[in-house]
Amino acid sequence: MNLYSGLQKVTHNFCILLGGALLKERALTGPQRVLLDITDYCNYNCMMCREHSPLSPSKFSKGVSDLSPEKNTSFKLQKMDVDVYYQLIDDLKKVGTREINISGGGEPFTHEKIIQMVEYAKKNRFNITITTNGSLLNEGISEFLVDIGVNALYFSINAGSSETYMKVTGKRQSGLFEKVKANVRTLAFIKRKKKQKHPKLMLSFVISTQNYFEIKDMIRFAIESGVNRINFVPVVSYFERASFLDLSSEDIKVLQKDIKKAQYFATRHGLMHNMNEFIQWLSMKESENLRNFYPQISCYVGWFLSLILANGSVMPCCQCMKIMGNIHERSFLEIWNSPVYRQFRKESKNFALRNKALFNCQCSKCSLVPTNLIFHKILHPLKPMHMGEKELTARLKGKVAIQ
Ligand code: SF4
Ligand code: SF4
Repeated sequence: MNLYSGLQKVTHNFCILLGGALLKERALTGPQRVLLDITDYCNYNCMMCREHSPLSPSKFSKGVSDLSPEKNTSFKLQKMDVDVYYQLIDDLKKVGTREINISGGGEPFTHEKIIQMVEYAKKNRFNITITTNGSLLNEGISEFLVDIGVNALYFSINAGSSETYMKVTGKRQSGLFEKVKANVRTLAFIKRKKKQKHPKLMLSFVISTQNYFEIKDMIRFAIESGVNRINFVPVVSYFERASFLDLSSEDIKVLQKDIKKAQYFATRHGLMHNMNEFIQWLSMKESENLRNFYPQISCYVGWFLSLILANGSVMPCCQCMKIMGNIHERSFLEIWNSPVYRQFRKESKNFALRNKALFNCQCSKCSLVPTNLIFHKILHPLKPMHMGEKELTARLKGKVAIQ
């Protein structure tokens, strides 16, 4: 990061905080990070996937029927039109967004225009990160990603062995796990050959009952394929039928032991990781602290992040399928400070009141707890996180408003 972009980032964060602290529901600057689904198509059917899981109540329901009645409409697979995308990039530039993560609803490399899309965003000086299952990469694409300077690639692997990989991804194709591993390795090799620092390569593992016992194999995968970092993410079961994926207390105990050993193994090989945060999350989950977390602090997601689906719908986060607007109807600039978005910010800021509008969000399984905690500590340095049982109960009943 150079001095200019460092200063830009500090100013941006300051504006987000100021917006959250003083102006309540108006954002002074755009979301720092945008998660952008350019397509809903995917060549996999992962168990834990919000969109493509065979466990979804209605396949391609976008998984929202468990989340929000307002979005329980029949869902069609969509690809973002390239002109709509260009307009969005122009708008995000105006609003001050810095990072775009091409991710989410499907596999980005199934979109035939992905090369042009990445080129346009890089030309407009965005930090671009891409989340992919890695199965469609080839040498040509890898060369392009290195040459254009994509900032990071996040590979969703979610297994430590071929057998688990087939089970988790729904692809009964032997050799696929090895193929993906070879693709990651090729990209790492091209990067080294061209003496480039980017893209940073990261493996991501959603940890569930199906794979928690393979932590060490996952780390071995990362070391052998030459990536920079490994991240563990707790599973979020979006559907009732997927609840068997949630870790039990017993699983968590086993995992806690394994992960401490794995941490040592990863550090010894110079692999960056998020195991400290993951351990923290595991202990919170085990003691059920997560359920009581948001009555104690606010959610600031409405200031720092936005999710845009391939059909153009703008959402506040992945676990809260409330539509803020659609970029086919209004510009992102208009949507970002529209009455609907401002209302959402007001409600998420006052979590203690358990706003009805947020009942359908999966806040009790929120994966943005660490980020919200950072904002809370900066904005309310003197406010204790662990309040007494009596006050907490009163807040849960909505009797005491949060400041
Ligand atoms: S690869 Fe990603 S988008 Fe595709 S099914 Fe798996 S989790 Fe979903
Ligand atoms: S799921 Fe998390 S980030 Fe989303 S609205 Fe709820 S608390 Fe905020």
